[in-house]
Amino acid sequence: MKRLFLGLCVVLSVLGFSQIDTAQIVVRERKNTPQALTKPYVILISADGFRHDYAKKYNAQNILKLAENGVSAKAMIPGYPSITGPNHYTIITGLYPSHTGFVDNYFYDKKRNDYFGMSMQSKISDGSWLGGTPIWSLAEQQGMLSASLFWVASNSDAGGTRPTYYYNYHEKFTADEKTNIVLNWLKLPEEKRPHFISFYFPEVDKNGHLYGSESLEVQNAVQFVDDAIGTLMDKVNGLQLPNVNFIFVSDHGMIDVDVESTLEIPALLQDKNRFIINNSQTLLRITVKNESEVDEVYRELKRNKTSGYKVYLTEKFPKRLHYRTADDRFSRIGQILLVPNAPKIFLEPTSKKTPGKHGYSPFKVPEMKASFAASGPAFRKGKKVGQFRNVNIYPMVAEILGLEITESIDGKSCTAKKVLK
Ligand SMILES: [Zn+2]
Repeated sequence: MKRLFLGLCVVLSVLGFSQIDTAQIVVRERKNTPQALTKPYVILISADGFRHDYAKKYNAQNILKLAENGVSAKAMIPGYPSITGPNHYTIITGLYPSHTGFVDNYFYDKKRNDYFGMSMQSKISDGSWLGGTPIWSLAEQQGMLSASLFWVASNSDAGGTRPTYYYNYHEKFTADEKTNIVLNWLKLPEEKRPHFISFYFPEVDKNGHLYGSESLEVQNAVQFVDDAIGTLMDKVNGLQLPNVNFIFVSDHGMIDVDVESTLEIPALLQDKNRFIINNSQTLLRITVKNESEVDEVYRELKRNKTSGYKVYLTEKFPKRLHYRTADDRFSRIGQILLVPNAPKIFLEPTSKKTPGKHGYSPFKVPEMKASFAASGPAFRKGKKVGQFRNVNIYPMVAEILGLEITESIDGKSCTAKKVLK
């Protein structure tokens, strides 16, 4: 019956119901190799916008217990800009956003003369937009099955191979339904059971944006996610599989911004014939269509600048953010960047005012920093480490699963060495 149901789901997807389709998509002919069967399991959970201090601040008991029984970091440093799409994809590829080409939730690609948006189904599911090899793709290529419940780009063939089990993004499942999906994956016969599972919660970020980073609603969302993780861990542990590891992460933090006195986009940039502007409020990227005008535009922007933001040539952007022209492998960042000083934002008159934001440099605005805690047989017990960059998750997961990293990545193995047995 289950087979029939899964088959039907694939048919429905092929017929084009994917926009509203809540059905699982299964690549049916795959199975774990005998070698993969001997490897551990990793469940990578992300709670969007779960700031580095939220677990303690709001007494998220299950996440604190996870840290206590395993390892935790003071904070995890997101890639720049500290926003959702780029950072989920950075965590899953071990590459900075400039190196994956996922440079913003929304960006323009000069060579394609086309726009990419994280919520555009046709773009996010098309792996040709994105560089790097996601962990699920690496696992599948090395004979190990994987599954994803809503991780950014898990419905794309980026890196060459989709997970064996995945969904197109939607928010119709309850926490219990999500937990049951993971449990059902882990109850599959060994040959069909995914060893790498990635799992996503949007609630904390949503409430942070709508009600502010310190709101009661954020506290409630933290409790909601914590309860869901507690239930998931209890039920998974109840299956008594020999070697399951849990890794809890987030993509970025959250801060309250100044919505009363916002920054105006300089008038010069209104000329659509000369510029393509991408304003994510905490970062404004400028593509000057005529390359020979870049220096002149930069000087003019500097000359007419009001207070509250900085103007940079992308060529000379701070090195540690890895967001310079030299890093821009897909030529998507633009040549000039306007960077608001937190808590300032660039707000267009038509945009909705919401109090919580992220996107700033995590080095300048510590509220941008994310969370990390993990436990399971692969991890040490009671180990606390300092902050580290989120690109280091990739080599950690690859090490646990026994996967060979096949291309050059930005992530370093130093964090794995500290937290793994
Ligand atoms: Zn996010």
